[in-house]
Amino acid sequence: MEAIQEDLATLEPVPWLSNPATRVQVLRLDRVHPLISGNKWYKLRFYLETARSSGKKVVTFGGAYSNHILATAAACNQAGIPCAGIIRGEAPPQYSETLRDAVSLGMELHFIAREAYRQKQLPAALADTSCLVIPEGGYGIPGMLGAATMPFISGTFDRICCATGTGTMMAGLLHSAAKGTAVTGFSVLKNHKSLTQEVAALLPPSSPSGIIYHDFHFGGYAKYNPTLIRFMNELYAQTGIPTDFVYTAKLFYGVKAMLEQDFKTDRNILVIHSGGLQGNRSLPKGALIF
Ligand SMILES: *Cc1c(COP(=O)(O)O)cnc(C)c1O
Repeated sequence: MEAIQEDLATLEPVPWLSNPATRVQVLRLDRVHPLISGNKWYKLRFYLETARSSGKKVVTFGGAYSNHILATAAACNQAGIPCAGIIRGEAPPQYSETLRDAVSLGMELHFIAREAYRQKQLPAALADTSCLVIPEGGYGIPGMLGAATMPFISGTFDRICCATGTGTMMAGLLHSAAKGTAVTGFSVLKNHKSLTQEVAALLPPSSPSGIIYHDFHFGGYAKYNPTLIRFMNELYAQTGIPTDFVYTAKLFYGVKAMLEQDFKTDRNILVIHSGGLQGNRSLPKGALIF
């Protein structure tokens, strides 16, 4: 498997989104690795260091198309760490491509009922072994501190924009951003109103807080419509930037809308491309031009 290449995470101007008043740049974290993509590598790095030095097996949680599950499987494979994934719901008759890849990378899968999943119950087979449990999505202080090591994020920007699921990456941005940079999250979940507190819980008291937009989820987690797909194709045609429909497409859509509103007076905006392109494999074939 290819190694992680953090030096491929470059800053690129996005002329299509920029205007004479506002320069928009994108941080291409999607380039660091095809499977351990984007923010997932940064969020996992300290968890994996701990697992390696303590000789523990990594256990984590996710759904059948989860970027986090696949990134964990690939990163553990690379580091020689045994790992297990606890997957929400019944074992399907046919695994998604994401789950097939995770298994071929050596991850052991355990399917658990939705209610047990909600309570994050460990299956009996794992409960008594020596495991390092990584919360779903890498949420937690080690995940935040890892996200805080993403490159370029302490530069001089009026605003940094990211997609938010658990809010771990956003907390890492708040941790590392320069004073005076507004950190702005676009939630991909419907009605995730506790997100502000979940971000704050990862940071020391009296840390700066960000701004979260809740109007760009397109119906909820992993939901999409023809407008979003059309936007992804247009963005790609105009800029060469591929996005994923779960996170980064909703982010770019929201940024484009806000450039004409709340972001009008910003001079310099950084948009985090947090990866996740593997998730597009669950879309109908031919929906995307890339
Ligand atoms: C997981 C993921 C996110 C969300 O990150 P959080 O730290 O959970 O908010 C954003 N973008 C992509 C591409 C992801 O895979």
